[in-house]
Amino acid sequence: MNLITLCKMTDKAIFPAPEHDHSVCINKAISVAEQLCLTRGVQLTPIRHKILELIWNSHKAVKAYDLLDQIRPVNDAAKPSTVYRALDFLLEQGLIHRVESLNAFVGCHCSGTQHDQLLLICTECHTVQERSAPLVLSALSKELGDAGFVPQRKTIEIHGLCKSCRSAINALEENAIQ
Ligand SMILES: [Zn+2]
Ligand SMILES: [Zn+2]
Ligand SMILES: [Zn+2]
Repeated sequence: MNLITLCKMTDKAIFPAPEHDHSVCINKAISVAEQLCLTRGVQLTPIRHKILELIWNSHKAVKAYDLLDQIRPVNDAAKPSTVYRALDFLLEQGLIHRVESLNAFVGCHCSGTQHDQLLLICTECHTVQERSAPLVLSALSKELGDAGFVPQRKTIEIHGLCKSCRSAINALEENAIQ
């Protein structure tokens, strides 16, 4: 399977339901990363590989110090700088995103390039949904152009309730009324 096919697949599967088979997400993300690093001639060293796997443990954002705690049992020589260097590499390769408002990281759903995105952060289940939001981002580009402002990066982060948490809460409320 080539990279393009994998990317298209991950794109379609954007933000799966809570009961989805997450091992599929992990396997896809890891194979995209391995193939990409091979094509680019960059090293997905064991520590970079491990950090990427740990980030992909869930669709929740992970903080650097939590990654350090998780990596110590397998690599007791790991220091904060080890984790930060691996994170920098993964960010550079477009394999993960920094969630600025949480100071944490999530795996990118369509790994490969650094790109702008809309991140929807659920305050209930803490999952982060990535959306390419082309209309929002092009409107934003126009606004920035009008202002003569050159952005270094564009990430829009919105905190709120995701679809499945909202339906769960609605169901609870309906039960309470009955
Ligand atoms: Zn998943
Ligand atoms: Zn992405
Ligand atoms: Zn949620």
